[in-house]
Amino acid sequence: MNSLNKKTIIYLDNASTTPLSDKAKKEMDNYWNLFYGNPSSLYSLGVKNKKTLTYCRKMIAECINADTDEIFFTSCGTESNNWALKGTAFKLKEKGNHIIVSAIEHHAILNTCEFLKKQGFEITYLPVNKFGEVEIPTLQNAIKKETILISIMMVNNEIGTIQNIKELCQIAHSKNILFHTDAVQAIGHIPVNVKDLDIDMLSCSGHKFNGPKGIGFLYIKKGIEIEPLLNGGQQENNMRAGTENIPLIVGMATALKEHIEMLTEQILYINNLRYSLIEQLKQNGIDFNINGSNNCVPGIISLSFKSIEGETVLHRLDLKGICVSTGSACDSKNTQLSHVLKAIHCDKEYAYGTIRISISHDNTLDEIISFVNELTKLISGNVSKKMNAKDITK
Ligand code: PLP
Repeated sequence: MNSLNKKTIIYLDNASTTPLSDKAKKEMDNYWNLFYGNPSSLYSLGVKNKKTLTYCRKMIAECINADTDEIFFTSCGTESNNWALKGTAFKLKEKGNHIIVSAIEHHAILNTCEFLKKQGFEITYLPVNKFGEVEIPTLQNAIKKETILISIMMVNNEIGTIQNIKELCQIAHSKNILFHTDAVQAIGHIPVNVKDLDIDMLSCSGHKFNGPKGIGFLYIKKGIEIEPLLNGGQQENNMRAGTENIPLIVGMATALKEHIEMLTEQILYINNLRYSLIEQLKQNGIDFNINGSNNCVPGIISLSFKSIEGETVLHRLDLKGICVSTGSACDSKNTQLSHVLKAIHCDKEYAYGTIRISISHDNTLDEIISFVNELTKLISGNVSKKMNAKDITK
């Protein structure tokens, strides 16, 4: 799908961002300088782009079983999350001032909550169990008569845990509370059906599924009223003013459709790579913990190693041309554990040695083998038995 020169790097940080798909790039190309019309203009150059906009909105809606007019384009996942939370809070402030989120949300949610706190809203951060799951009674006990919104992410970006969104949402609705989910790590990676889940709002970002950066969308269920994000022109049904970025919207719609069309085979393929990676590490005698739940997206693997710093591993792998990320960050004095590793009470002996590997359909078994061989050398401090593709039984 992507023509990245794989000889130069082994890219295992796909939860951070993904390269633009060749098909998305090709579809986008003409919209930069040939079909550059403003979709609000009344002559044919503009009208053509208005049609493109509607077509892309429909393509995206079909990927998550939404209606076309329930999709609102934004500039990224962060913007979608900001809008869902602030738009709801400001609309419903007369009804109540209490918002519930999980403790392991992305900072796009957590820092928006901190902003809202300063505006007089009360925030409850729900603890999670050791697998990173919000337990149903925990949510039930946190609800108050002032609660206006519950926002719980569909897939965690560090450990890959999938939440039981359907049941969490049912609890919200049984108390007449709106439910939003940050689905930035879910869309394009697991099947998502907004009608079946019955969620009120959902955030998405284009660059997590081989679409372009700087584009996302917010799904808002018909009938749900929140405050507009940007005031100005009539774009996005008067909810988010500003001339639409047609090339990026075309790229996101194309990439998402491409992902959804190959979703089943992609999940199977990535699951096999995941299995191989974990099995090889075990066969190499490496001592490690896997963070998160068995109910997870196959592509995200959070591994913790004893007596080694994740950031050191990251930089040593980088020297070998391998990209991963870490669950801790070193400043000049300390190594700080991520809020997610803290929330799941990751074993302290292992926690500081955490790395996140995120695999995509663009990765190959040979890349996984090279990665494991480098990691094994690094962790064990000596050269382990080199694996070959034929050594892998599954
Ligand atoms: N939410 C989650 C779960 C994420 O993983 C990310 C990005 O990593 C975001 C939100 C922010 O998305 P964006 O980079 O499009 O602003």
